[in-house]
Amino acid sequence: MAIERIVNPDTTDPAESADEQVLGETLRPRTFDSYIGQKLLKQNLGLAIDAAKVRAEPVDHILLYGPPGLGKTTMAGVIAHELGSNLRITSGPAIERAGDLASLLTNLADGDVLFVDEIHRLPKTVEEVLYPAMEDFGLDVMLGKGPSAKSIRLDLPKFTIIGATTRAGALSAPLRDRFGHVHRLEFYSPDEMIQIIERAAGILDTKLDREAASEIATRSRLTPRIANRLLKRVRDYAQVHQVDTITRKDARAALHLLEIDEVGLDNSDRRLLSAIIEHYNGGPVGLTTLAAICSEETTTIEDVYEPYLMQIGLLERTSRGRKVTPKAYAHLGLTPPTSTAQLPLQ
Ligand code: ADP
Repeated sequence: MAIERIVNPDTTDPAESADEQVLGETLRPRTFDSYIGQKLLKQNLGLAIDAAKVRAEPVDHILLYGPPGLGKTTMAGVIAHELGSNLRITSGPAIERAGDLASLLTNLADGDVLFVDEIHRLPKTVEEVLYPAMEDFGLDVMLGKGPSAKSIRLDLPKFTIIGATTRAGALSAPLRDRFGHVHRLEFYSPDEMIQIIERAAGILDTKLDREAASEIATRSRLTPRIANRLLKRVRDYAQVHQVDTITRKDARAALHLLEIDEVGLDNSDRRLLSAIIEHYNGGPVGLTTLAAICSEETTTIEDVYEPYLMQIGLLERTSRGRKVTPKAYAHLGLTPPTSTAQLPLQ
């Protein structure tokens, strides 16, 4: 079991939900206006919501995919809020049997939004019950056993499913096809990250200047969940050091203590890159081997480490495995080996 990482976007802080309940305005945006970034996604969903409202019908089912911590759950809340609907939250692994899903669905009301996190982890038997529910708002129930058993169809309320997944590729084709809207959440731009940090600082009643926000932004892996987490750690530092308005220097000092470097890498990321360089001459190296060297699950490497390392151009995925880039050598202060192909002929 790996040690918990502060830059892991895949874990929710206990404080995340506490903040949401205690604070008047919540860290989790509730409207399209307070949800920063993801412009295209907001436009598309805004249109779908307006059209559904005009037709007085539920919005077609929505699949949101992308790396953890980018705002899929938050967006589900925004959609329900904009629709004026109730949001029910569950997750793929929590629905173990077909009966669990049946009781969830029969307890919904017309227009409700059901958010299913990690939808790729739904058991196959549950998935099959979901197909007619998504398509025709129907639930097939078997009555009796043996030769006299018969199947009857129950009508369900007209609901909308919002599925979230970090890996769209792991979803079965029949399930994916039943979503009318399929959208990918993108990493945020540095400017959007600054806005997210400034908004969160306002809600947390913390004063910081633009340069401090920018410093936290560049180390937050373009991910709001990490930005909020780092901001809280910087706020702790400022409180202990009796800083009134946090400056870049304070932010740097606090983040230095957490061993997060200027592009947001922690020791685990640096270890992963160094391992590829030291043991495999920069790669390519297969995913399972890489997971073994780092003592991580292959899914953690794929969902947590890789997306950001690839986004900032330190790692590449090739058909033969993972490879570090010359930029990764430079970041670690190392010189890339000269490839034999580039050596001048003697
Ligand atoms: P995911 O479901 O993709 O893992 P979440 O929706 O739980 O991510 O988002 C994690 C945290 O990041 C939320 O608590 C919220 O405070 C913050 N957040 C996410 N997206 C945004 C955004 N667009 N604007 C501001 N804050 C955001």
